[in-house]
Amino acid sequence: MQQSNRIESTLLRRINERRLLEVIQQQGPSSRAMLTRVSGLTAPTVSKAVDSLLKRGLVEELDPLEPALGRPGRLVRMAAESAAVLGVVIDAQNCCVVAAGLDGNVSEDQTRRFATPTSYAELLDALERQCRNLLDGITGRVHGIGVSVPGLVNERLSEIVFCPNLHLLDKRNPAHDLGQRLGVECVLVQETDALCLSERMYGDARGLHDFAMLDVTTGLGLGVMSGGQVLAGHSGMAGEVGHITVVPDGTRCGCGNRGCLETLATDTALLRLLAEKLGRPLSLDEAAALIGERPGDFQHEIRTVTEYLAIAIAAVINIFNPTTLFVHGMLFVGSEERFARVLERVKQRTLTASLADCTILATRSSKRQAAIAGIMHHLTNTWAPSIR
Ligand SMILES: [Zn+2]
Repeated sequence: MQQSNRIESTLLRRINERRLLEVIQQQGPSSRAMLTRVSGLTAPTVSKAVDSLLKRGLVEELDPLEPALGRPGRLVRMAAESAAVLGVVIDAQNCCVVAAGLDGNVSEDQTRRFATPTSYAELLDALERQCRNLLDGITGRVHGIGVSVPGLVNERLSEIVFCPNLHLLDKRNPAHDLGQRLGVECVLVQETDALCLSERMYGDARGLHDFAMLDVTTGLGLGVMSGGQVLAGHSGMAGEVGHITVVPDGTRCGCGNRGCLETLATDTALLRLLAEKLGRPLSLDEAAALIGERPGDFQHEIRTVTEYLAIAIAAVINIFNPTTLFVHGMLFVGSEERFARVLERVKQRTLTASLADCTILATRSSKRQAAIAGIMHHLTNTWAPSIR
């Protein structure tokens, strides 16, 4: 009996600590008085929980910049100097590794980028090298590494079962393999799910429980936050809207099929059309510059992809009824004018009632911040279950 009481009180303490971690993540640096007000916990409970989180190195205290009248309260924030996490982004063309504090702020000088190697062994070698390079410069405790990957992540099998745009990841778990090499806990997170977590932690989805994320960069990925949880399906593979056939005998897709939506509605789709027209391959940056300078020369190509991107956005809004749909991309989302034209077409394709319920926004967070959000979400989740 006594033992079960002890287990109960430990669990309760952890649940309170998790609640505070979430409040601090959402509110930024906060005084204990603010934490008491926002969390709904009592002042002594907040104080005890903060002390415990300080001891575990998850938060740190600092003096306020502008002390309030009377006795200034110290602020509590996610540990930014005394602790760190790493984020790894694996993508079809490029990879990056980033180090950040637990507050999730990413910077260019803590980022290492490299072209994606052509074999899995070389990829692991490169990731290990870049991670070690960053880890060597960290003096505080490293709490873990989030590894963001494209493709279908099967959570039950704990591996990437199929990766249409980077087949060297098929049947692999780079988080597991990297963790073994480095001796640091690494978690695997599907890139669009990670973007959902990131937008909720650091972007415009703060406080939202029902929203969707459409990533239209390399492939076409969908993440859906429903009732505060990422929609997973049976094995975590839900949301593959990109492989819906829209042109039965269209261009061959990385999945082996033809005419999938992702071959028509993405940055990569426009890149392919531009390359066909110019008769040579070009990079995403080059394409952005080119259509910025001479949009008239590529009107047909831009209009074609605009049309299919609008179809993709409309499909997501019609099916999931999100409060907000975030779109992550570069060639269309990165240009106000082109994005406005896409939204104009979305109006024609979406059910009016569903569209009236939904705000469509460009994402603010990046994939490297998403990898950080992935590990922070894991750390918070393993701390204690969430109580709603
Ligand atoms: Zn496909």
